[in-house]
Amino acid sequence: MEKEWEKDVISKNFIEQIIEKDIEEGIYDHVQTRFPPEPNGYLHIGHAKSILLNYGLAKKYHGKFNMRFDDTNPTKEKVEFVDSILKDIKWLGADWEDRLFFASDYFEQMYEAAVKLIKKGKAYVCDLTAEEIKEYRGTLTEPGKESPYRNRSIEENLELFEKMREGCYQDGEKVLRAKIDMSSPNINMRDPVIYRVAHMEHHNTKDKWCIYPMYDFAHPIEDAIEHITHSICTLEFEDHRPLYDWVLKELEYPNPPKQIEFAKLYLTNVVTGKRYIKKLVEDKIVDGWDDPRLVTIAALRRRGFTPESIQMFVDLVGVSKANSSVDYAMLEYCIREDLKLKAPRWMAVLNPVKLVIDNYPEGKIEYVEASNNPENEEMGIRKIPFERELYIEREDFMEEPPKKYFRLFPGNEVRLMHGYFVTCTGCEKDENGNITVVHCTYDPETKCGSGFNARKVKGTIHWVSASEAVEAEVRLYENIVDEEKGKLNEDGTLNYNPNSLTVLKKCYLEPAFADVKKADHFQFVRNGYFCVDTKDTEEGHMVFNRIVSLKSSFTIK
Ligand code: ATP
Ligand code: MG
Repeated sequence: MEKEWEKDVISKNFIEQIIEKDIEEGIYDHVQTRFPPEPNGYLHIGHAKSILLNYGLAKKYHGKFNMRFDDTNPTKEKVEFVDSILKDIKWLGADWEDRLFFASDYFEQMYEAAVKLIKKGKAYVCDLTAEEIKEYRGTLTEPGKESPYRNRSIEENLELFEKMREGCYQDGEKVLRAKIDMSSPNINMRDPVIYRVAHMEHHNTKDKWCIYPMYDFAHPIEDAIEHITHSICTLEFEDHRPLYDWVLKELEYPNPPKQIEFAKLYLTNVVTGKRYIKKLVEDKIVDGWDDPRLVTIAALRRRGFTPESIQMFVDLVGVSKANSSVDYAMLEYCIREDLKLKAPRWMAVLNPVKLVIDNYPEGKIEYVEASNNPENEEMGIRKIPFERELYIEREDFMEEPPKKYFRLFPGNEVRLMHGYFVTCTGCEKDENGNITVVHCTYDPETKCGSGFNARKVKGTIHWVSASEAVEAEVRLYENIVDEEKGKLNEDGTLNYNPNSLTVLKKCYLEPAFADVKKADHFQFVRNGYFCVDTKDTEEGHMVFNRIVSLKSSFTIK
């Protein structure tokens, strides 16, 4: 059956239209895309969109998808990030086959490309300082000024550039610039710097190089070397496209790739953007890059999101040219949809209080049968122990209930899910007035599945047997930032929500939970979808993360 959300995504997006036109007109005879992260942090939901978009296009047009680390900037790159990025992309299901590349492997070719530009009179070594270059560049309304070094001879430039490579200069002492047009209306075209001196060790090439190419020069070369056809990037690079095209034209690559920009994905109430996530991690406000409150891919996985739910989300969001924020509730909708038929629906009491059935025989245990997922009979049934002492949710009992409260209160009858009807008879309290035990009696005629149907009750509550319950820790999450109050404080720091994590130490779960594995998914009846935490769960200490509650404010039109 066609799902409702699929209807919205059937029409072709603008990138697909461009690709189809290019193939039809014979501009390219194949489709090749790439995902080019900088290994300077963990990937987040925005990157997931880019990965699935690039991979999806390659698959759709029987093309290839390359994985490439854009590691041309040696300062912030770390091997830890390389490993996490590959793990996350694999988990999402994007397959680069044998095409895993590092931009740093092309440094020699990039150097030669720069030499080629110099030989064509299209690049020169400039001695201006960074400040001077900025000053000479002009503004949006004023043209730039030409550097006094702009007209050095080709021979001199070749010699100086070689000496840059040999390490004869300090950082910032000299740069190589493209010779384009200092009066271009596009500031990116005003003789941009394409190589700089940086005496820094690189995670891949170690100390082989002390000059490094700038992104705008390196990226088109990387794409061309790999025979990329459609180089998809985000909107902020739109003004850089003329430079991308200039580099490819001057280097005379046949069949040059084409840059296409789309809008970044932003989500409400969460923090996307590596810079802010990094700050939360470094300030120890969260428990590492995979803290379930974050929207890094590692965090989403740990929280319990599935690759399928993220694919559905990305499809629903679509691609667009206009920046906008997507409601976080849409991501929640996708995981509920995905787990609805996959996750067992078992009973777990998060905030327990004891319920004693005074007329139930002491020491007796009987087993009641329950479907593992009433919407998916294939998931089979299980047997749940029922006995005189149970745990129920504290909020399912009230001594003095408000109107329309249909759960337990003195004199009221409710159904114990999969069990019997019970009538509340009262409660016990400690010296502080806290309720410690709720009492009730049961009607032996009303066993679930016995065909009993004589009277209706309005409330059904869940429970677990007190002697056979499995104990667990459960973590509930709220949004890490409160969108309504603004993501940022006036001083630019993050306005994070101090209640974003609630830890419930002593929750009681039905015995079926004794055998679960890390990363397994469940619906806790009435409480939401949960996942076994992969990091903090240990033998004898189970930890669950709430992925999402059951109620949704989000609907697809
Ligand atoms: P951030 O802005 O979070 O620091 P970035 O753009 O610096 O991310 P890169 O590693 O350079 O991160 O990005 C790799 C690829 O992912 C790029 O092609 C980039 O355009 C894309 N990308 C990054 N953020 C988003 C986003 N929010 N939505 C869609 N694509 C994104
Ligand atoms: Mg970046």
